[in-house]
Amino acid sequence: RLHEFLVRRQAPRRGTEPEQSGSRLVVLAGPTAVGKGTVAGYIREHYPDVQLSVSATTRAPRPGEIDGVTYFFLTDDQFDRMVEAGQFLEWATVHNAYRYGTPRAPIEDALASGRNVLLEIDIQGARQVRQAFPEARLVFLLPPTWDELVRRLTGRGTEGAEEQARRLETAKVELAAQEEFDATVVNTEVPEAAREVVDLMTA
Ligand code: 5GP
Repeated sequence: RLHEFLVRRQAPRRGTEPEQSGSRLVVLAGPTAVGKGTVAGYIREHYPDVQLSVSATTRAPRPGEIDGVTYFFLTDDQFDRMVEAGQFLEWATVHNAYRYGTPRAPIEDALASGRNVLLEIDIQGARQVRQAFPEARLVFLLPPTWDELVRRLTGRGTEGAEEQARRLETAKVELAAQEEFDATVVNTEVPEAAREVVDLMTA
């Protein structure tokens, strides 16, 4: 299933580049624990016209996560092979720990068939997408306050103390990147934040 989904099955179609078909690539990034995953999940459920990219990662699945749905869970070797074959639109090592990447073929296929595509990735990845797809729209998700971000990060309870501290450090650096983005959305209430992101895709 992984192979079938990730590897391009046909040559790129000419004349159907994103700008001609009117479809849009939107990147949702923001600091750790701001709720990107929750907002993206809400969009997946309530806006079926939007295609969400399924990333590949070398980290282990958390309870409830499904291979091929939440992520494609890969070994280091499998990830290396995809990097070498140029099958990622972007990839990055996140929180100095695991690698995450956006499989290229599903994105190109979706844009070529006129669908709007949403990528929920980290800021390093957003910068790479900007290089590869200058017409992509980069949206930065903000927490209502810094204290709320800390609360969300420590309250999630999925990471140990050391990992939490590492992610907070990352979050500080990440917040500074918001000026590189085309738009910011404050994640106070998930349904409203999701609607704002979708509006930015279609506007
Ligand atoms: P988590 O391990 O909590 O699911 O995700 C950790 C971080 O990896 C999040 O900030 C998320 O946005 C980022 N991430 C998930 N998928 C990708 C991807 O395909 N590329 C990049 N660059 N970052 C990703």
